[in-house]
Amino acid sequence: MASPRDYKNTIVPNWCPGCGDYGIQNAISAVCAKKGWANEDITLISGIGCSSRIGGYQYCYGAHTTHGRALPFAQGIKCANKDQHMIVCSGDGDSYAIGLGHAMHAIKRNMDITYLVFDNQVYGLTKGQTSPASDKGFVTKTTPDGNPLTPLDAPAMALAAGATFVAQAYAIDSKTMINVIERAVDHKGFSYVNIFTPCVTFNHLNTVQWYNEHLVKMEDVAPDHDPSSKAAAYRLLGETNSLVTGVIYEEKDSVAFGDIVPSKDVRLIDHVEKPSAELFEDLC
Ligand code: SF4
Repeated sequence: MASPRDYKNTIVPNWCPGCGDYGIQNAISAVCAKKGWANEDITLISGIGCSSRIGGYQYCYGAHTTHGRALPFAQGIKCANKDQHMIVCSGDGDSYAIGLGHAMHAIKRNMDITYLVFDNQVYGLTKGQTSPASDKGFVTKTTPDGNPLTPLDAPAMALAAGATFVAQAYAIDSKTMINVIERAVDHKGFSYVNIFTPCVTFNHLNTVQWYNEHLVKMEDVAPDHDPSSKAAAYRLLGETNSLVTGVIYEEKDSVAFGDIVPSKDVRLIDHVEKPSAELFEDLC
């Protein structure tokens, strides 16, 4: 039986002590173990940012790509490798600023990809600038008088873009996070999960205490929520100021893009064969 440790390589992450990204890495690894996936059947693509370092720490195929462009890379790779379990990791700066146009079209295209956004409401890698997810009033080097803008309501935007799976999780609540990510990878089509994660070094507004006081769990605020209803999903986001964790929306009978269009027409490179387990071992 697989263990979460089987999905981490030997490189020690250089995230700050206390960073929520450790918890997300543990959750992704736990889900891979629960599914019993072979390492060579997983591809993890990341963009740029503290979150996106994760690709270097997992024992699977992957690429650490360019800022905001993880999704185009992932979709291209998925076209040529339809059976790979495709996970994309990105941050709120990477996804909701330079990468937002790609995210909207990837959501709309509904390829069978799981998109995990590590949302710490700040640019961490570049040492603490305001991001599109930052709260109003947040003081940083780029907004010394406080952020004058309201944060992007990313889950509502994903719904509006036609997402077939929308969920949120919290890096400190591993039980809910593992459940949400497992449901995301099981979903047929594009699954989008926004994961709140504390940046202990550069975000002194949205601390662990702040998240504990402001985030609410689905089972506490809406135990009868029907995730197949888009109207209920919008209502839930409105009622909770989009600070709810759990599966907010999942379209019944979602059909992934690669299953609508025959794979021979989706594939960009016809001759690509699945890499062998031996090749994977050689590369690793
Ligand atoms: Fe984590 Fe923030 Fe440190 Fe980056 S800067 S590793 S997000 S705590």
